[in-house]
Parts: sequence; structure tokens; C-alpha cells
Amino acid sequence: MKKTDIKSLYLSELEQKLGDMGEKRFRAGQVYQWLHQKQVKDFGEMSNLSLSLREKLADHFTLTVLVLADVKISRIDGTRKYLFRLMDGNVIESVWMQYHHGSSVCISSQVGCRMGCRFCASTLDGLERNLTAAEMLEQIYRIQELTGERVSHIVIMGSGEPFDNYEEVIRFLRLVSDAQGLHISPRNITVSTCGIVPGILRFAKEGLPVTLALSLHAPNDRVRQTLMPVAKSYSLSEVLNACREYFEKTGRRITFEYSLVKGVNDNPAEARMLAGLLKDMHGHVNLIPVNPVKERNYVRSDRRAIQEFKAILEKSGIAVTIRREMGRDIQGACGQLRRSYLTGESEDHEKEGG
Ligand code: SAH
Repeated sequence: MKKTDIKSLYLSELEQKLGDMGEKRFRAGQVYQWLHQKQVKDFGEMSNLSLSLREKLADHFTLTVLVLADVKISRIDGTRKYLFRLMDGNVIESVWMQYHHGSSVCISSQVGCRMGCRFCASTLDGLERNLTAAEMLEQIYRIQELTGERVSHIVIMGSGEPFDNYEEVIRFLRLVSDAQGLHISPRNITVSTCGIVPGILRFAKEGLPVTLALSLHAPNDRVRQTLMPVAKSYSLSEVLNACREYFEKTGRRITFEYSLVKGVNDNPAEARMLAGLLKDMHGHVNLIPVNPVKERNYVRSDRRAIQEFKAILEKSGIAVTIRREMGRDIQGACGQLRRSYLTGESEDHEKEGG
């Protein structure tokens, strides 16, 4: 019999399963609390359950726990980058950032990625597998345990494409925002996508008021296609229409991410084109100086080019922020820590990140 992963179950499903095992329904609530509020690592810790029930649970279910494999702490701003080992031996990374309003965790949604964005380190070895909802929750539960701080914000912006793992990401979002779990408001959660249109449209109907971040990175299809293979499947106009629909259905403004790459997408004409494109969109632009990945030869734009790009957008009435870089000294860019771990590289070789 294949055991069910207990931490990925909704409370209603757990009630059903325990009921089928001949247990009282309220036991499910107790178990759920151990899993999602006390965040225990072993059935043995569920001390208000009888020994026989704990043994029965262990017979029927697996309990997913991530193990810390490495951590890097930024000396600049205290950002921590965690490398976790999954139960099958794969490793993933998650980032913890402290802000004045709380602390935020950037989680991975897949082991590797198959989207192939040219500037991204997560995709260099392709997709290994999807993460389960429990593995996404565990990134947050373990980070709370390791830092001793309550996590207030979540961004699904680590390795992986969330809409390429749609079902588990939705399950994760419902579990993490559940009042009987960690209870993080969907409004404090951001899901970032490279622009899978059917995923955006479906997501708009879930009734989850999370912020959608769209990885735009170019003001037209031609440039976008050179950076992101997914742009060959969905045109910019299709993607932006889907974002409009997302705003209409959820009332949440879109964040447009734009990584500035020197000589590729950062000239003033491109800034003007972007301003035209986003004129009627409800959202704001987040400019990200590209993080150089050594396997690729993209270079970040100069400070002046970034400022000029920003000024052009602002003059057109578009809200712009330049992403504050966190953890520059600890391989903050997506997938870099995991990759240096897999290739057995010394931690001193790369100094960029963010
Ligand atoms: N697959 C999702 C989420 C993961 S990537 C997506 O594409 O949105 C999170 C963000 O970081 C995306 O905007 C991505 O394009 C960007 N990114 C990835 N590698 C980067 C790099 N080296 N420099 C700057 N931004 C990068």
C-alpha cells in the first residue's frame, strides 16, 4: 500500500481518512494542529494522541520533513539562504528575508525548472520533479523553526514555475492560508509566473486574492522570445489580457517583473515601448538588475541606464520600484546555491546574488 503524505491533506480529507480508519472526527483536528501549527517532525511528538493511534498514523501515512543541508547568512543584511534536503535526496533552496514589516520567505515550487529562461540558473539542468504541497509548507515551517521568527509574507519566486505544478501550488496556498494552519493571508502571498496563460486564467477563478507577479522582461514579443522560450507559446498580448482578467476577477494589482540586461532590453526606446504596453494595466513595474549567472554571458545594466529606464516609465505615470537587493554576498540568484552544491563548487567562487 502506498502511504499518503499526511501534511499535504486538507482538514476535510484528513477527517475522511481517519473516519475510514474507525477514528473519531475530532482526532483529525488534533492531528492537523500538530502538523500545521506546532509543526512537529514525528508522529511520536503528538502527545495528546494514544500510542496506538500514533502507531496507526505511522502505518498509514508518511510525514514529510525537510532537513537542513546548508545555510548562508548575508553579512550585509542578514538574509539567509537555506539549502534543504528532500526525503528522496534532492536538494532545493529557500530564502528568508527580514523587513521592517515582518519576514518573508521565497520558496521553490519545483526541483529545477523546464521553462528555459536564458538568464536563470534554476533551469540549467532542466526539471527534476514537482514539489508536493507538504514540501512547500515545510520550507516555511523549518525556516520558522531555524530563525525563531514568524513568517508573515511568502513569495513563490524560487526555483520552478508555479503554474507548471498547478495542483500542488493551489493545495499549498489553501493550506498555508488556512485559519487552522499557519494562517498567512493570501494578500501577503505573491505567485510569480513566466506567463503560462491557461494557468493565469485558471488561477483567476480560484478565489484566492494573492498577488500575481508576471515575469515580463521585454516590451515586445521579439526580445521576449530571445530571453524566454515560453514567449513562443504565448504572445505578450495574450499574456497581458490574462493579467487584465486576473485583476478584474481578484481586484489585485499585478506586479510586472523586468530584469534589466545590458544591451538586450534596457534602452530608452524599450522603456517607452514598455510604458505604452502597460499604460492601461493595473499594476506596477519591479525593475531587477539581472544577476549574472556564470554559465550565461548576460551582464547587468549600468546604474545610469537603470535610472533612465525608471524615469521614462515614471514620466508616463507608471509606478516603478527597483528591487532592493537582498543577500548580494550569498548567491541570492535563483538556483545558484543549489547548483554550486550539485557541482561541488567552493562557496567562494561566486559573489553575486540578490
Ligand atoms: N518561474 C517563475 C518564478 C521563479 S523566477 C517566474 O518565471 O516568474 C522569479 C523571478 O526571478 C522571475 O521574474 C525570473 O525571471 C527572475 N530571475 C531569474 N533568474 C534571474 C537572474 N539571474 N537575474 C534576475 N532575475 C532573475
